[in-house]
Amino acid sequence: AKHAGRGRAMHYEVLMDDDRDARREMEDALRAAVARGEIDVVFQPIVRAGDRTICGVEALARWYRGGTVPVPPDVFIPLAEATGVIDALGPLVLKRACEAARHWPEIGISINVSPAQFRNPYFPDQALAIIAAAGIEPSRVTLEITEGYFIQNPGRARLVMDRLKAGGVRIALDDFGAGFSSIGYLIRFGFDRMKIDRSLTVAAEQSVKGGAMLQATVALATSFDMPVTAEGVETAEQAAFLHLCGCDQLQGYFFGRPMSEKAMGELIAPQIDV
Ligand code: C2E
Ligand code: CA
Ligand code: CA
Ligand code: CA
Repeated sequence: AKHAGRGRAMHYEVLMDDDRDARREMEDALRAAVARGEIDVVFQPIVRAGDRTICGVEALARWYRGGTVPVPPDVFIPLAEATGVIDALGPLVLKRACEAARHWPEIGISINVSPAQFRNPYFPDQALAIIAAAGIEPSRVTLEITEGYFIQNPGRARLVMDRLKAGGVRIALDDFGAGFSSIGYLIRFGFDRMKIDRSLTVAAEQSVKGGAMLQATVALATSFDMPVTAEGVETAEQAAFLHLCGCDQLQGYFFGRPMSEKAMGELIAPQIDV
């Protein structure tokens, strides 16, 4: 039994080493891909809840490892954050997104920002410079950020946010409802918009209490001048309920999946009167 136990322990250690090696290899591959600009950006439409016309797009990063194997953002974004690669990846995505948005006047462009980027003292000036270089109005840009950093380091978070807002950029509170968010605490930061996480929409469908939670959240946010976007809308029923709750913008597979810049351009073009 002792022998078997030791065998298991050794096997476990070997696995841990393999994990570490695999992670290290993935980190190197990601760093190299970012350095070569081999990160794609796709765009998902965001529509007005009322008439369902496109008012904006969210930029989402894509990485095909070795040019072929897709690695989910939920894997490579945390890796980029933990290794500092985000300091190069973030600006790359912002630049690509702003350059695409230049072709889409009237359309808002939303970009995800990691707390790790918010922590970087150069971030606000760097972001504003990228937007200026792309030649788009800062007011068309919304940076989406999750609550974490606002709770960990509220003083510093507010400074960064104020600097960005002074530059004309909008800030949205992303993934609301996915964490342990206290809306009462978060309201004081003056976010321009709230995005409620897909999990809230799903919970709203599953129980009466879930529905009441969603309704109350949207009512409270809007009463503090935070219009609400619902993400992860997959069905007509969800869209109708979210509109009824007071969300003014909707995003999800029901309206469109993340797509290439070219496909997005074709979707937007018919809307523009020339
Ligand atoms: P997120 O900010 O919550 O972005 C929305 C995610 O939900 C995207 O996943 C999108 O493809 C997915 N989604 C959209 N509509 C639906 C729907 O109707 N149903 C379902 N089930 N999912 C839907 P994706 O592209 O895999 O990205 C995952 C997360 O990775 C994002 O979540 C965001 O937090 C992060 N991320 C992606 N790109 C970037 C980036 O450039 N920078 C940073 N910092 N984070 C990024
Ligand atoms: Ca987002
Ligand atoms: Ca996010
Ligand atoms: Ca989300």
